[in-house]
Amino acid sequence: MKDRILVDMDGVLADFVGGVNKGLWKRGVRPINWEEMTNYHFEVYSEEEQKIIHEIYSASGFFESLEPIEGGIEGIREIESRGYAVAICTAPARTSLRCEEEKREWAAHHIGPEWAREEKTIVQSDKTAVYGALILDDKSEILGECKPSWKHTIYDQPWNIWSDKPRFKWGDGVDKLLERL
Ligand SMILES: [Mg+2]
Repeated sequence: MKDRILVDMDGVLADFVGGVNKGLWKRGVRPINWEEMTNYHFEVYSEEEQKIIHEIYSASGFFESLEPIEGGIEGIREIESRGYAVAICTAPARTSLRCEEEKREWAAHHIGPEWAREEKTIVQSDKTAVYGALILDDKSEILGECKPSWKHTIYDQPWNIWSDKPRFKWGDGVDKLLERL
C-alpha cells in the first residue's frame, strides 16, 4: 500500500486570496498588500470590507475561477511520481451552494478528469477524519473530532508566519516535504 499525502486546495493549490483581491478591485476596494495578510480570516479588513469579502467568495463561480498557485500542480504530480498516493483534502465553504461541485470541476480542469472523483478530491469539513500520512495545509491549526492520522506541514503563507510547525512551499521542491514521513 502507498502512503497517502493530503493536499489542501485553497491557499495551497488554488489562489483563494488572489480571487478575493480580484473581486475587491472590481468593487473599488483596494486589496491590501500580500505581506499584510497576516490573518487567515481577513480580520485585517474593516467590518464593512469583510462583508464584501464574504459576498465575493460566496458568489457562484468563485471557487471554479481561482488561479492555480505556482508550482502546486507540478508538485502533486511529482509526489505521485515518487510512488505516493495524493488526494486533495478541502473543506467546503458553507456559504457557497456549488462549492463542492466547483472544487471538483477546478481539480478536473487544472489537474485531470480523474481528480473530480471523490477519492482524489475529498471535500470534507472535518479533515481530522480523513486518513493520510501527511497533510499540507495553510491553516495553522486543523481542528476536528478525531485524533489525526497525518502529520501537518504548513504551506507557507503570510497568514501563518507566526506558527512554529514545519513549513513548506512548492518552490522548496517536494523532497523537503517528503522527508517528514
Ligand atoms: Mg487552505
